[in-house]
Amino acid sequence: MRKTDQAPQAAEPASPPGSAVDREPARAEPTTEAEAPAAAEATPADVAALSAAWEAICSEIRQRIQPELFETWFRRAALVELSEDAVSIAVQNAFTRDWLERYHRGVIEESVRESLGRSAAVELTVDPELTLPPRSPEDSEAVAAERSAPADLVRQGAATGGSALPDLSTALVRGSDVGLNAKYTFENFVVGPCNRFAHAASVGAGESPGAAYNPLFLHGNVGLGKTHLLQSLCFALLENWEGVRILYLSCETFVNHFIGALENGDLQAFRNKYRNVDVLVVDDIHLLANKERTQEEFFHTFNTLYNAGKQIVLSSDSPPKDIPTLEERLVSRFKWGLVTELEAPCYETRVAILKRKARERGRDLPSDVAGLLAERIDSNIRELEGAVTKLFGYADLSGEPVSTDLARTALRDVFSARRGGPTMDNIVSVVTEEFSVKLSDLQSRRRTATIAFPRQIAMYLARRITRHSLEEVGGFFGGRDHSTVLYAVSKISGLVERDPSMGDLLSRLLERLGERPL
Ligand code: ADP
Ligand code: MG
Repeated sequence: MRKTDQAPQAAEPASPPGSAVDREPARAEPTTEAEAPAAAEATPADVAALSAAWEAICSEIRQRIQPELFETWFRRAALVELSEDAVSIAVQNAFTRDWLERYHRGVIEESVRESLGRSAAVELTVDPELTLPPRSPEDSEAVAAERSAPADLVRQGAATGGSALPDLSTALVRGSDVGLNAKYTFENFVVGPCNRFAHAASVGAGESPGAAYNPLFLHGNVGLGKTHLLQSLCFALLENWEGVRILYLSCETFVNHFIGALENGDLQAFRNKYRNVDVLVVDDIHLLANKERTQEEFFHTFNTLYNAGKQIVLSSDSPPKDIPTLEERLVSRFKWGLVTELEAPCYETRVAILKRKARERGRDLPSDVAGLLAERIDSNIRELEGAVTKLFGYADLSGEPVSTDLARTALRDVFSARRGGPTMDNIVSVVTEEFSVKLSDLQSRRRTATIAFPRQIAMYLARRITRHSLEEVGGFFGGRDHSTVLYAVSKISGLVERDPSMGDLLSRLLERLGERPL
């Protein structure tokens, strides 16, 4: 494979199926502990001993992981303490430490044991002052030679020595959804504790498609950046790999193409198209719920691509096991590579996103205003973005400078909706009245249609207009788990699509709750 000399920022090739790595990190846990203090003054002899021991440990690590991975995660690390029964390894930031803890602790412990000839407790600490050791020429060559990527992909510019970019808007395989949004790039993506694993994994897959995490499965609530990351990944691939064939589409498009192919009897053409790509990116894969035939087809598409070493990237509003009625064999395949969650951004990340969105518009958002917005709008990044647009629009129209007072006026609706929106009780009272059922019925174990249906409607409404989590909604309706709520939401959404009277019913209920109709 041909590749530039630049090391990936955060790439981790997946280990083969069946290895001991935890394949489904539920969430990227933010780190709160204080950073470790720098190691105490060491004598030259100590330094030499540490450096020799570290070299021995590294040589064991290298035997256990791919060179590219070693480059990314270990080259900047150092052994800072060594005793009979403990070693302390410093890395340059908390993110690296967490990543190593999560994915490579086993390898590190094994390598320490092998090289020292005894077991030792391994502590990982952070030292931002760590410097990158000089790289020997053999090192660079070995790494360049060994880095793996799809055999038939060529690094952008490697063949010609030039750096011409393809026409990004037309480079996607025909049949991809409408072109990519030029704003959805890694540069424009603000990284925080809520999304850093998803971001790092996407960067990794853009660096080494098929060789990094495969499949890469990103999940999270709506408006948290899944589509943004998928498209950034496509841009990175197009920039990095000459002639790469990417099929990027929403799950809905996949379903529609498949149904069309069935109707027209040209399944073969459909399969040729889907199975002849280097990278398949499918957004909102949870829409495969309740679509058995399409799931079956996707299963075969997945296998063909996976076996050929092609990269598959998927996004979903829930983890694989919670997608209602998703076949077990797909659930297990989706977990083969890396499953990672995008969470709601914390306050600091929200402030950073607001400032970035303002900058993208060529504007400056004063810190106190950004703080106010971040405080009031705390779940969805799309809403943050909407608030910025609205605020600047209002400032331009009124000719007033952007201030907290102006924000309070311009965003009155947004702010008050947050506080005074419908509650669970409001939803229950509207639903029980409409269907003549009691709250105790909705919360009971009974599953007869006359009870289950209103319960599903109530769950759907709760997810649509309150900010309660799946768990909270499930808990409220008789201690049901979140997959029951997901199922209810998906079922009612499906009915709305097929049956106009269902849409009318929901609109009526929404209006009674003071919400906009469907
Ligand atoms: P999802 O696909 O998860 O529903 P999107 O990717 O469509 O969410 O994101 C919604 C909006 O929020 C987009 O305009 C996107 O650019 C923006 N956004 C999401 N996450 C980030 C982030 N970390 N940094 C900057 N913008 C973001
Ligand atoms: Mg999306």
